[in-house]
Amino acid sequence: FLFLPNDNGLIRLVFQTVCDYVQNQEQMEGFLPIVGVYPITDSERSVGTMCNYAQIAASTLKGKFSQRICYFEAAMVESLEKKQRVLHEINNGIPNGEFVFYLQPKCDSRTRKITSMEALVRWIHPKRGLIPPNEFIPILEKSGLITRLDMYIWNSVCQTLRRWQDEHKPVVPISINISIIDIENIDVPRYLSSLTEQYHLDPKYLMAEITETAFAESNATVKQTIDRLHKKGFTVLMDDFGSGYSSLNMLKDANIDILKLDMKFVEMNEENHNKGIQIMDSVISMAHRLNLLIVAEGVETSAQVSMLQSMNCLCVQGYYFYRPMPITDAEQLLSQTPIEDYHELRTSFAQQHNCEEYLVSYETLPSVSESI
Ligand code: C2E
Ligand code: CA
Ligand code: CA
Repeated sequence: FLFLPNDNGLIRLVFQTVCDYVQNQEQMEGFLPIVGVYPITDSERSVGTMCNYAQIAASTLKGKFSQRICYFEAAMVESLEKKQRVLHEINNGIPNGEFVFYLQPKCDSRTRKITSMEALVRWIHPKRGLIPPNEFIPILEKSGLITRLDMYIWNSVCQTLRRWQDEHKPVVPISINISIIDIENIDVPRYLSSLTEQYHLDPKYLMAEITETAFAESNATVKQTIDRLHKKGFTVLMDDFGSGYSSLNMLKDANIDILKLDMKFVEMNEENHNKGIQIMDSVISMAHRLNLLIVAEGVETSAQVSMLQSMNCLCVQGYYFYRPMPITDAEQLLSQTPIEDYHELRTSFAQQHNCEEYLVSYETLPSVSESI
């Protein structure tokens, strides 16, 4: 902490001096200091509070590489307090049963039969009603608390699958969402395996959706987690495929079973329609060549369904078919709608798109020297 005249030029000079000093040190590459400034407007405040305010200002710069100096504003405390309040409410909300999951079916694009469902968390707040995940998951991920909620949801999913089997209701596999923070915090394959053992479930009923960004952030750890999930009998999906940057390279290393195409792929307008179709078609045939099943997400129109059918994309999920729904509605739906055995679908898909078919065709290509 420095106590200086409030002079922008001087603050910049301090920043630059630190940068110059650090650059001359070994093993400090990539280090960029951040500076939080609290201009003293109320000298009645304690020095401790002033230092806290400067730190709060500095903390808002995390991840913003173009801005390295930030002045404190009262709104920063409000936003921090709001986050703390939400975290506190969530911590109390879990044991109060305020968190539930909705289920959204995935269907066979040709027959509309339901092949599986995805569990999507919802917060039923006692005062504010239903709150969607994008309002609380980012806060939970930043604080690391997401794992507590996810473990609770995964447990509830297994409990539901057990109940369906006990009540002789129709059962389809349910996929759960796994955050990279979960993979960093706990041994996910071991925890999921302990759940399937506890509820006497065949692991084929639980599928793991891991977002593409996780693969980019922590490639080796995620790859190892996938291999261990496989060993324990779980199916692994790469969620939001195509939304990040190094997706194609990741496919080479990660042993996933299913690609979930990001919603942006099926969203097309008049201007980008032609290019969009070419991209979709290429991605789907690439996935098929790699023996990967594709699920297209965010399907909202019949035109999109026809397009996907023509590209031989078997699995679809979106508002056109079903929106996420409470468990009781999903149960009713499953008792009235034909179900397709997801694992049979996969087997028949694998037989159709046997990788060896492609390997053979490459082997029969003339070698470079022969061509010359
Ligand atoms: P996601 O895993 O990619 O889930 C798909 C999201 O798209 C869901 O939003 C779903 O309601 C929505 N969606 C489905 N069909 C359509 C469609 O046709 N059009 C449009 N526009 N949207 C559609 P939701 O439920 O709000 O979830 C948002 C994200 O929050 C999820 O994206 C997932 O990343 C995360 N999430 C949800 N539940 C959990 C959970 O239990 N744990 C963790 N870690 N993340 C979760
Ligand atoms: Ca998902
Ligand atoms: Ca997704």
